[in-house]
Amino acid sequence: MASLPVLVLNSGSSSIKFSIYEAGDGQRTKLHEGAVDGIGTDLGTFWIKDAEGRKLVDETPALPNRAVAFKLVVDALHSSDFPAPAAIGHRVVCGGPTVKENQLITPQLIDEIDSYAALAPLHTPIAVYIMRESLSLFPGIPNFAILDTYFHRTMPEVVTHMPIPEEYSAMGVRRYGYHGISYESIVYQLEPNVPEKLIVAHLGNGASISAIRNGQCLDTSMGLTPTGGIISGSRTGDIDPGVLLFILHKIAETASSATEAADRLEIVVSKKSGLLGVSELSNDMRDLRDAIKDGNAKARLAVDKFTWTIARWIGSYVAELNGLDMLVFTGGIGENDIAGRAEICAGLGALGIVLDPVRNNVRGEAVISAENSPVTVRVIPPAEDLMIVNHVVRLLGK
Ligand code: AMP
Repeated sequence: MASLPVLVLNSGSSSIKFSIYEAGDGQRTKLHEGAVDGIGTDLGTFWIKDAEGRKLVDETPALPNRAVAFKLVVDALHSSDFPAPAAIGHRVVCGGPTVKENQLITPQLIDEIDSYAALAPLHTPIAVYIMRESLSLFPGIPNFAILDTYFHRTMPEVVTHMPIPEEYSAMGVRRYGYHGISYESIVYQLEPNVPEKLIVAHLGNGASISAIRNGQCLDTSMGLTPTGGIISGSRTGDIDPGVLLFILHKIAETASSATEAADRLEIVVSKKSGLLGVSELSNDMRDLRDAIKDGNAKARLAVDKFTWTIARWIGSYVAELNGLDMLVFTGGIGENDIAGRAEICAGLGALGIVLDPVRNNVRGEAVISAENSPVTVRVIPPAEDLMIVNHVVRLLGK
């Protein structure tokens, strides 16, 4: 295949990130990357860098809504400074129960993904908007949906099925799992030596962990929504359902409708909990580490809760995999929070996980386990955009 420019679009609730790759047979070169961030504010950021890190665009526009934000990106990409894309890959967080494969985007496919927006309300609406706009603003160029749920499609039913009445299961309420493109990219980077029994902890502002056997997902901590699983920046993670009912009853005392009460509960569990809720300070691990140095007990409790949850989850996945060959840390915290990796692994010696404190004193790609550790522990940054490009190239070849 001749070399082609591939545009990757990755939208979040308040940002649109993008990159342009030159992709040909076995060759992938990142040419540009950029982001528009702060959608819904008067002072957003919009930047584009070239491969050497030089900023070609660096602005602080007002971003009242996603339409303004995406128009900025499209207008910039249509200028002669950037190669016209030959194909576009969209990161789609949740395909719902029916869209399981990465595929060419058609208006019907967007409608199908949109019909399950309630399953990922923070992520799907903006992705749907961007896909629709992209079909009309880049006419004639193939657009592909690359799903975060795709990697988790191999989870057995005993893992995905929820213990709820069947009528809700029939509506698509089940465990889907997220961060799938990141997990796939870790497996891809380990090829051809993918260990049989692998655990990957994707610890970023959103955090999850997966048990992977022979390169295929066996289990993952996030469930129906990215709010499930381990606690993260501002999300509860898995929680006693009675807690949700208690909070809902409290909210209902002052809510004017059931919908308003549900929306307020959503904000509590997704935006006000996790590290932020416990610390009452920040959802950002760097702030919490600084506060711990100053003796802040709530920051200490929040971080302890985070590392304790992850250690327990690793233990349960070792049981599920019936052993462990390799543990990989990835994501902003996984790659950079040296103390966090040490705290998570401190009590896992009985599972064969032994860190080398000197090797662990690193940010970015490294082997950090001790020489005699039965389990290899590594840090590997995710390569999500590259993974999306790989899927686009594969699908273009079909
Ligand atoms: P991500 O969502 O993958 O970008 O990760 C964001 C998280 O990584 C935030 O909680 C950051 O505080 C954390 N992080 C980034 N750099 C560091 C660092 N040097 N030490 C500790 N945490 C960090």
